[in-house]
Amino acid sequence: MEDNKKVINVAEIFGENVFNDTVMQERLPKKIYKELRRTIEEGKELDIATADVIAHEMKEWAIEKGATHYTHWFQPLTGVTAEKHDSFISAPMANGKVLMSFSGKELIKGEPDASSFPSGGLRATFEARGYTAWDPTSPAFVKKDENGCILYVPTAFCSYTGEALDQKTPLLRSMEAINKQALRFLRLFGNTTSKRVKPSVGIEQEYFLVDRQKYLKRKDLVFTGRTLFGAMPPKGQELDDHYFGSIRARIAAFMKEVNEELWRLGVTAKTQHNEVAPAQHELAPIYVECNVAVDHNQLIMETLKKVAERQGLHCLLHEKPFAGVNGSGKHDNWSLITDDGKNLLDPGKTPHENIQFLLMLLCVLRAVDRHADLLRESAADPGNDHRLGSSEAPPAIISVFLGEQLEDVLEQLVISGNATHSIKGGKLQTGVKALPGLNKDATDRNRTSPFAFTGNKFEFRMLGSRDSAAAPNIVLNTIVAEALCDACDILEQSEDFEQAVHDLIKEYATEHQKIVFNGNGYSEEWVKEAERRGLPNLPSMVDAIPALVADKNVEMFEKFHVFTRAELDSRAEIKYEAYAKAVNIEARTMIDIASKHIIPAVIRGTKTLAETVNAVVQAGVDAEVQRDLLVETSSLLKEAKAALTTLEQVTQEASTKEEGKVQAEYFHEQVVPAMEALRIPVDRLEMIVDKEIWPMPSYGDLIFEV
Ligand code: ADP
Ligand code: MG
Repeated sequence: MEDNKKVINVAEIFGENVFNDTVMQERLPKKIYKELRRTIEEGKELDIATADVIAHEMKEWAIEKGATHYTHWFQPLTGVTAEKHDSFISAPMANGKVLMSFSGKELIKGEPDASSFPSGGLRATFEARGYTAWDPTSPAFVKKDENGCILYVPTAFCSYTGEALDQKTPLLRSMEAINKQALRFLRLFGNTTSKRVKPSVGIEQEYFLVDRQKYLKRKDLVFTGRTLFGAMPPKGQELDDHYFGSIRARIAAFMKEVNEELWRLGVTAKTQHNEVAPAQHELAPIYVECNVAVDHNQLIMETLKKVAERQGLHCLLHEKPFAGVNGSGKHDNWSLITDDGKNLLDPGKTPHENIQFLLMLLCVLRAVDRHADLLRESAADPGNDHRLGSSEAPPAIISVFLGEQLEDVLEQLVISGNATHSIKGGKLQTGVKALPGLNKDATDRNRTSPFAFTGNKFEFRMLGSRDSAAAPNIVLNTIVAEALCDACDILEQSEDFEQAVHDLIKEYATEHQKIVFNGNGYSEEWVKEAERRGLPNLPSMVDAIPALVADKNVEMFEKFHVFTRAELDSRAEIKYEAYAKAVNIEARTMIDIASKHIIPAVIRGTKTLAETVNAVVQAGVDAEVQRDLLVETSSLLKEAKAALTTLEQVTQEASTKEEGKVQAEYFHEQVVPAMEALRIPVDRLEMIVDKEIWPMPSYGDLIFEV
């Protein structure tokens, strides 16, 4: 009976907290609604009178939902979102009462004090002004919880002089760029009907769940999001028994609440499953247009954190919370879809005959090949350094997986300039009569490729789990816009279109075949092979950042009005700083834990051991085992103390370096290795000392006892 109360009707609650198209159509006067649709669809500017009406209706709707405040919700360059709440109340009237108001101006434009957000030198401290501007293409919504109800207005965030201080502004600019070029491309192939082309994006999110009480006992997790010490438990993920395993009750309850909350916010949470590592899970929504997908991913991350806390859990979004255990990423599934529903990456049944598709595909290959460095950079954050290139996540080298069928087509194109056949998928032979004859995909999956063609979309798998998905999509949109632009420039001038397309396909296939790799991206051989092919290998974040300001990349971003050079310089600056800060916090946390908790605990342990040795000897019994253990513990303790001293020295030294690139490089080259050196003896100590005295929960406690 009790369960009955909990039954929810998904269709009913879906989007109930969103000021979506249905609500707008119902509540706005016809004329105003039409104006707004034109803004959303064609990017037409809203006049203030129209905005006033929309704001008023939005407020009325939000107040009915229980809202007391509104906020411009934006994404500064911190990787997370920011908000400042304003209540709807206006100045008291003569009778002492207040009205609830929300004007068009307040809807369209906000002015948070911007001085504390990273600007990378774009904003002098005396000029702290920053503006937020409504993004009407991403719907407003209310967020309700035990602490209140607030109207959220998704916004872009710019400086007084119009420079982007956030993720959304360049993302919207990049969507504009690719829309324009893709339409040019479509017109060449005879399409006269499509009005808009948008990147469609589905972002799969991986995360870990641990028990909140245990989490609170790990200062490293609390301060840095990842464990800085920790010996491997006797059992890891080697049995692969967690991947797609049945979901335990506690986790199922968590997922249920997450889903419901997301559905109410109009996020199409669709797929959930256990991931490879114990305690690791994944959530994927259904794809939507790029900017909304990026906003929704932020909502997903926030919701995972919030619901976990409510349920006595903690959600770890860090890319590598546990050494030796699979890390977490995000998969960015990307395609280009027209307003009338055509997917430009759909090969059809016989890709070799689909000339438009082939050229589109080759434009993507060309884009990725020319700007592999930028794509790699777009996935760089301090946490991802522990993941990329290790034996689980995609390598730090960008390559494209096409699958058997398309690789074969490409091969034919390179050899003869013509493709005459496509390998067919055929029937799947299961050997079991009772199973229906499944049609096999023409392409198998490849999990080791950073950039894989998966049927009718590309899947970029390098993204860090904690990072905003904006940057990778900005890069993807812009580099593909550039490739399409190049192709259109040539084709629009050609006298014989068919011949020109044919020549271009052959040229691109030959020139960019080197970016295609269908083998095992985790293997040592691939690293060598990639080097031979001249593909960039940028193992760490500090190696990758310079790509942001490389001339060829700056030129491209400026050409398509996505970033100015000043904006790129500032972003590079911010990333160096972010890296240095992250490693600095980790190093200081390690020093704190080692000197205040671990070393004292081990010293107490050695005292007990020494007393035991004495007592055993006094009793006239051989104490060799106890003595050996004491010797081993003492020697590791000595090693740990020496490593700690070194770490203290280099961390101190780092603070004297010039901020920016120099300091980030010092952290990468000196501090990170010193941290690794301290970890080795400490993890060995954890293996040999009494669990009772170890000052924090072990890996086993954290990942097997959720
Ligand atoms: P897998 O784990 O096999 O990669 P999932 O089903 O977990 O697959 O995730 C696939 C993601 O790709 C989902 O978010 C899905 O909505 C999205 N997707 C499917 N088709 C497209 C498309 N044409 N464009 C962009 N994203 C897509
Ligand atoms: Mg995937």
